[in-house]
Amino acid sequence: MAAKKSETTMDKLVSLCKRRGYIFQSSEIYGGLNSCYDYGPLGSELKRNVKDFWWWWMTRRRDDVDGLDASILMHPRVWEASGHVEGFTDPLVDCKNCKQRFRADQIDTSACPNCGKDTLTEARKFNLMFKTQMGPVEDDGSEVFLRPETAQGIFVNFTNVQTAMRRKVPFGIAQIGKAFRNEITPGNFVFRTREFEQMEMQFFVKPGTDEQWFESWREDRMAYYNALGLSPDKLRWHEHGPDELAHYARAAYDIEYEFPFGWQELEGVHNRTDFDLRRHNEYCGKKNALTYFDEKNSERYVPFVIETSAGCDRTLLTCLVDAYREEEDRVVLGLAPRLAPIKAGVFPLVKKEGMVAAAKDVYERLKPVHKSFYDEGGSIGRRYRRQDEAGTPLGITADGQTVEDGTVTIRERDSMAQHRVKVDEVVGWVTRFIEDDD
Ligand code: ATP
Repeated sequence: MAAKKSETTMDKLVSLCKRRGYIFQSSEIYGGLNSCYDYGPLGSELKRNVKDFWWWWMTRRRDDVDGLDASILMHPRVWEASGHVEGFTDPLVDCKNCKQRFRADQIDTSACPNCGKDTLTEARKFNLMFKTQMGPVEDDGSEVFLRPETAQGIFVNFTNVQTAMRRKVPFGIAQIGKAFRNEITPGNFVFRTREFEQMEMQFFVKPGTDEQWFESWREDRMAYYNALGLSPDKLRWHEHGPDELAHYARAAYDIEYEFPFGWQELEGVHNRTDFDLRRHNEYCGKKNALTYFDEKNSERYVPFVIETSAGCDRTLLTCLVDAYREEEDRVVLGLAPRLAPIKAGVFPLVKKEGMVAAAKDVYERLKPVHKSFYDEGGSIGRRYRRQDEAGTPLGITADGQTVEDGTVTIRERDSMAQHRVKVDEVVGWVTRFIEDDD
């Protein structure tokens, strides 16, 4: 049956996410907490798969990137050196009439987008970092920030990783972790939230080779989104003009995706020059703290950094948006098999003793290897449809023939093609199906 890709609306997706256990509003019974979300049973599996695939892509598939897991709280001087205390601001305007707040760079009228009145204040700088206190005494000296990006944890560990792993430049450090930004206008579900996870990689190169490495990483990152199975016609590059460039960047490109609410950034690829390492050397008072000694040429230098900065929640949302489709008689979440939370639903055709025992046998074999779900409730059509909507790529059914010849039917979610497979060969078959996911 031809897939009819209907206009995906965020409302439909948000409701599916709640219904199927992907994403819930945080503290829902208290009326929710603005822009905070909880990942449910399927959402947490999907998130784990998104992270695992990124980690594999960055650190296992190649041999020049190491992993790191730095702390969220860092020395306050880090954020002075990085420029965040001074410059990590968005322009904030208030409406004196309706009291709504907006990011000046996200509205294009001088009138209030909410009430239409000409009552907006002048823009003022609003720092996006969350502040908190460390220890029992509340004074200026105990003030710390929740990190607004994971990158700084990587920069300050450059020399630790380089010496511990006996790395030679060029090499990279990859990290997945929480970041916090007190966004003025969070929204569009998990697209922009105040607490989110980043998947960042900083690649350290010799000055002068940075432009070449920048291009190579751009290519690699687009290949990654293709490997995630996203529709190629919904992905594009956006180059930052001189007025958009962050204070640390020499060149920056965003990978954008066409969401139901327009083209938006999915990931940034930046040439951060030697800005961060140089600034840390200056602010920590040890001029060679973060430098590299090239033994071959007997020279010491501050490496340049090519950064790839993706949002985990945003990637997950993109995968959901891209996967959602409505067909005549079913809703399908066509997630790539490697990302799908549940790989196979296992069912007896009807609740008869031999079929139930055979289906349970298949489920027990599959369960330790691939997340699976056993279901014997309701008609087989209903059970298939529930799993289609949950994004499960395979349905395995034990029927009358199973009892006679020890084979089951494996149905593919997308094509609905059916295969007859021996019970002994099911685990291998499913593994191959997931691994062949390209
Ligand atoms: P914007 O200009 O949209 O605020 P940015 O350019 O400051 O975003 P970066 O600092 O480049 O964003 O962040 C890198 C990545 O981290 C983004 O591409 C996005 O995937 C993710 N990200 C940033 N802010 C948020 C947020 N508030 N919620 C969810 N993900 C975010």
